[in-house]
Amino acid sequence: MSRARKPDWLRTRPPSGERFTEIKRTLRERDLHTVCEEANCPNMGECWSGGDGAGSGPGTATFMLMGERCSRGCNFCDVETGGMGPLDPDEPANVAEAVAEIGLDYVVLTSVDRDDLDDQGASHFARTIAAIKQRDPEILVEVLIPDFQGDPDCVRKIIDAEPDVIAHNIETVERLQWPVRDRRANYEQSLSVLEQVERESDIYTKTSIMLGLGEYDHEVYQTLTDLREADVDVVTLGQYLQPSRSHLEVGSYVHPDKFETWRAVAEDDLDFLYCASGPMVRSSYKAGELFVDAVIR
Ligand code: SF4
Ligand code: SF4
Repeated sequence: MSRARKPDWLRTRPPSGERFTEIKRTLRERDLHTVCEEANCPNMGECWSGGDGAGSGPGTATFMLMGERCSRGCNFCDVETGGMGPLDPDEPANVAEAVAEIGLDYVVLTSVDRDDLDDQGASHFARTIAAIKQRDPEILVEVLIPDFQGDPDCVRKIIDAEPDVIAHNIETVERLQWPVRDRRANYEQSLSVLEQVERESDIYTKTSIMLGLGEYDHEVYQTLTDLREADVDVVTLGQYLQPSRSHLEVGSYVHPDKFETWRAVAEDDLDFLYCASGPMVRSSYKAGELFVDAVIR
């Protein structure tokens, strides 16, 4: 793998503006964490404000539940491994209040993996979905869930909480699952989580693939085909970026034109409901805006 210089299309400006500052303040006051901030995501300006960044569309933010430390250690991810604390029983209500205060229309809830808990945190997810919907049933909720070690009972708890979208990331092609993901994750298990949601509910499903990890085109195509065969509705593709020198190196910087080609393949050839694809796209990138455009309008 090479240590290639970052191309120009990956340079971004830090987010700013009144809305950005206001949201940040609310989060600090409530001691809540978002993936947006933890990952220093370059899309914050656009996502938090919605649409063009000036509040013209549904704003999206991704809340990180169950702490900042994970029971797994994926080689692409910057979250610390081990040393997880007890769950905060007030977190579901706290997140719901913050969502109302900020005035978000579309919320993404995700979490670290909590293999150490009895139900791996599935009930905590369900309680948070319920708390948000109870305050305002109009708010759209997307959950980006762990694989729950493939335990169908945990997945069912999420289905029963009736979020609008259930996402689970396959992350990469089959050949690269290890070393990209923790050894407890794998391709079949992730496909089975998505399949179960499709089989047992009408809830939209979504997944994400990182490019630039050393995958070949035919492997990306195979992954898209496998996802479609599992009836997954939405896929996003983005560039892998190395969080630190101790993480996997970037194999290649994929050109924006190539991302556009994959978008066309996913939407036009494979009939995904929609595909967000671009160097800076993350699984929750403008999730509200894209979902509303594709499904509700
Ligand atoms: Fe990061 Fe998720 Fe892997 Fe944990 S399971 S290390 S949060 S990608
Ligand atoms: Fe947050 Fe996801 Fe948007 Fe990044 S892409 S700002 S993590 S909602």
